[in-house]
This record gives sequence, C-alpha cells and structure tokens, in this order.
Amino acid sequence: MFEERLSYEEFQDRFSTEKDCMDYLYQAKWPHGFFCPECGHSHAYVITTRNHPLYQCASCHHQTSLTVGTILESTRTDLRKWFIAFYLVSTPKSISAMKLMDIIRVTYKTAWTILHKIRHAISTEDASCPLSGSVFVNKNIHGRIRGIDSLEKLETLYVGASLDKEGEPKHLKIKLLNDKIDPTLTMPIGITRLIRMNFLKEHVVPHPAYLDFEYGYKVFPKGVFKLFSEAKTWIYKTFNGLCHKRMQPYLDEVCFRINMKLNEEPIFANLVELCMRTRMAPFKHSI
Ligand SMILES: [Zn+2]
Repeated sequence: MFEERLSYEEFQDRFSTEKDCMDYLYQAKWPHGFFCPECGHSHAYVITTRNHPLYQCASCHHQTSLTVGTILESTRTDLRKWFIAFYLVSTPKSISAMKLMDIIRVTYKTAWTILHKIRHAISTEDASCPLSGSVFVNKNIHGRIRGIDSLEKLETLYVGASLDKEGEPKHLKIKLLNDKIDPTLTMPIGITRLIRMNFLKEHVVPHPAYLDFEYGYKVFPKGVFKLFSEAKTWIYKTFNGLCHKRMQPYLDEVCFRINMKLNEEPIFANLVELCMRTRMAPFKHSI
C-alpha cells in the first residue's frame, strides 16, 4: 500500500495515470481479491469497454465496479483529481474548496462536492466508532472557537476522548450537539442530565470501563486540552468565519487526522479505504 509522507511531487509520480489510481482502489476495495457483493464469489470477468472497468461475477453474472457503493459512485471526474483531494485532505493543513478548485482545475461546485463527500465518509466512519475504555467527556460551556459565530443557545460543544492507562488520549471526538428534548422520554428530565445523555447515547459505548463527565473550560486532562487547542487552531486558521451550522464535518475531519496521528496510522491509506466503504445518496450536483 501507499507509503505515508510522500512529497506532492512524489505523490504525483506515484499516481500519474488513471490506472495507477484504479489499481490502488482495487486493493483498497478488495484487499483479498474480487468479492461479489451479491453471492460472495471470488472470480470475475473484467469488461474494459467503459471508462472504468466493470467486473462481472463468474458465478451469478452480477456486474459491479470499483466505485459502486462508494462516495465515488457515478463520478465523471478523473480519479487522479480525486486522489489529489485525498492526498491534500491527508496533510496537516488540509485544503479548502477554493484552493482545490485551482489545483485540480475543476469548478468550485465540483471541488466543494468532492470535499463534502470525503468529509461525509469521515463523519460516517466516526459515527461507527464510539469512545470506549476509560472515557473523558467535557461539555464545554464556553464552547466558542475564535473567529466562528457564537453557538446557538441550544447548541453545545462537547469534547470526548478515550484515554490510555497513563491518561493520554487515544481517540478524540469534538461534537456540536443540539440539546433538544428526546420526545420518547416519558419523565421530565433536567437539562444537565439531558445533555449528558445526548452525547453518551451517540458517541460512547453503552458501558465504558470508566467515565469522567465534566463541565467547564478548564477541566481537561492535559493531553486532551492540547489536542482540543490544536483542533481549534486548525479550524480558525482554515475556515475563519465559517458558519457554525456547517462546522461538524470540519470538526470530524480534524479529529480524524489527530486520531490517525495518535495511533500512528497511515492517514492517506485509511482515508481512501473509508471512502471506498462509504455509500452516499445521489447528490444534486453530479460530478
Ligand atoms: Zn456473484
């Protein structure tokens, strides 16, 4: 698989043709060889008359492609352009749609849609990985990020982390939650308990080994505070003035990079893999 930390020039050499990208996607989608999504058969005939090859199952004749069932499904944009977007999102600074538009020479709408789909895949992956083990959560009552519109009254910034034995963070989540009342609740419930429940229900396993739920800006383990500051700085520098209503995908994106780094995981390889296993409803702007 792809080695981390290639320079941009090295990256372009490595993925200089559509075939380079297709070969990489094949490995990411079927690391153990072709797998028919209908019957599980492991052999396919390749039909190469189209832009992207079709794989026809040798047993049930079901036809599929590398991009079916992924965020790239039905894309008409060159895979090389997608790969440049993957590469740039994997770098510490990431990329804005304005800059991506110039680099890969597409319209702003296409650049924005590519990044939107990548962030959708990151958020989907994040939703399937609740915090576990020793868990720290802080409901940040002063949940402002410099340069970002102040949060609505009912929206609260939560910072959660799984900690290792030394109390160092291994997995970080930063979430904006709307503290609305769950209509299925049969008893009245205090706001403090409610907001706690909202976060725990969505982002923490049912019975973590240990749970520390705190309120207030200063109550953070040192390592978590450092990561939270890192995330806030990135958000501020990259998206100064971004409306908070669109902030969650960016918070998920920065946490993804932080978590990959914390666990010494290859960011690019993981990003491509999660994009290859994330389905997305058809988008109004076809790219
Ligand atoms: Zn089949």
